[in-house]
Amino acid sequence: MTWILVLLMSSLPLAVTLPPAEYDREPAVKYEVIETPWHKVDALCPGHEFERVLACARDFGPLGWTIVMPKRDGSLLGDDWKLLLRHEKGHINGWPRFHPGARLVGM
Ligand SMILES: [Zn+2]
Repeated sequence: MTWILVLLMSSLPLAVTLPPAEYDREPAVKYEVIETPWHKVDALCPGHEFERVLACARDFGPLGWTIVMPKRDGSLLGDDWKLLLRHEKGHINGWPRFHPGARLVGM
């Protein structure tokens, strides 16, 4: 089983999923996007059930939503970064955190 885990880990940057079409749109609510070095994303996205997260979207109530994204600095570039942002916008639009109906792209 070890080789399967290695394969999944090595393909992680490309394994960005998109939400189903009903959630894949610009959010109608207020939100901001902040970029941080990738190794600081976990600290800003507490409470998740994954060992590592690439990004997250948080609802701060009246203050609106915040999407925490890794800086575009070589670990995640161009189209992959944009796909990840669409993924997080899907969560703002109500896509559940367990990702039902996720569409795999970039493979
Ligand atoms: Zn997600």
